[in-house]
Amino acid sequence: MIPVMRPYLGEEEARAAADAVRSGWVAQGPRVAEFEQAFAHRVGAAEGVAVSSCTTALHLALVVLGVGPGDEVVVPSLSFIATANAARYVGATPVFADVELATGNLTVATVDAVRTPRTRAVIAVHQGGVPFDVAALRAACQDWGIALVEDAACAAGSTAHGRPVGAGARIAAWSFHPRKVLTTGEGGALTVDDPDLAVRLRRLREHGMNVSAAARHASTQPVLESYLETGFNYRMTDVQAAIGLVQLGRLDAMVARRRELAARYRALLADLDGLTPVRDPAYGTANFQSFWVLLDERYGRPRNEVLALLAEAGISARRGIMAAHLEPAYAGTAHGDLPVTERLTRDSLILPLFHELTEADQDRVAEALHKLAVR
Ligand SMILES: *Cc1c(COP(=O)(O)O)cnc(C)c1O
Repeated sequence: MIPVMRPYLGEEEARAAADAVRSGWVAQGPRVAEFEQAFAHRVGAAEGVAVSSCTTALHLALVVLGVGPGDEVVVPSLSFIATANAARYVGATPVFADVELATGNLTVATVDAVRTPRTRAVIAVHQGGVPFDVAALRAACQDWGIALVEDAACAAGSTAHGRPVGAGARIAAWSFHPRKVLTTGEGGALTVDDPDLAVRLRRLREHGMNVSAAARHASTQPVLESYLETGFNYRMTDVQAAIGLVQLGRLDAMVARRRELAARYRALLADLDGLTPVRDPAYGTANFQSFWVLLDERYGRPRNEVLALLAEAGISARRGIMAAHLEPAYAGTAHGDLPVTERLTRDSLILPLFHELTEADQDRVAEALHKLAVR
């Protein structure tokens, strides 16, 4: 069976994790501090704050922005469900905006169509690693006086306007789940442009303490901590950060390989009518964390049938990105029409793409897709 994704992990990651264990420091400590700084530097942000997941990162982002009950947060329905859930965690109301067909991303127009005087924030996703137009959306949100949180869960190594995704973001949330390009097992981070925001985020991830446990343990004198506000335990461990530091060193190679495989898929599938592969937008480059193809009636077979027949052929593909508004957890949520979201979630599928995917396996996927097309 060809899997849809396999994390790229080697002996170096195993050794780094073992070294962290042998050091005796396994909870959040020096390796987390090193990793968050190195990650922020790589994505062009001033500060990084490592946390337990992108889900907790999104929650903290809305907490520091002061979003709460009575506020609306514009989110794409077309995203992993954690994006919409973040608004609910702070008691705010998620408001679903539609996306554009080519990138699966929010645009100025789709956000503008649903914003109201109660809109306090927008969470825009760099979907599947395809960047949204950061210049346009950041400028619009600034004009509207609405905070922009960038859900960059999938976008480590993607670029927009010649800079890494993350550069110039007020606040961005990242995931290091094994389904993403760079993994620490579980894990996430926030990157911010304002050092004061980073101080507050570090406090909030660690129970609201004014001094970190790591700093307390490192001190030769007793340090009495105090708890300045209601915080959380959203810490990353040093074992995860040790793995992350090795993965960060591989990021450029992993992105280059994914881009090479994506280009090869596009060439192999170019002659197939009714099947449109995702591509770079005009303003940036994707890391192709999720390489999706969109089917139309010319292909001749519904998406779910294609998934089932691929599975019979030993190929594990996945449905395209989910739509939160169609899930039971969001049943009864008021929203406008979301035609592009519904089209993408119904008619797209994600093909196997990972660092160690062989060209022979890729050929098998392309041949299977040719064979399944109804002519
Ligand atoms: C994966 C993902 C998340 C959640 O990340 P976790 O680290 O698993 O919490 C959030 N948003 C998007 C867009 C994602 O793809």
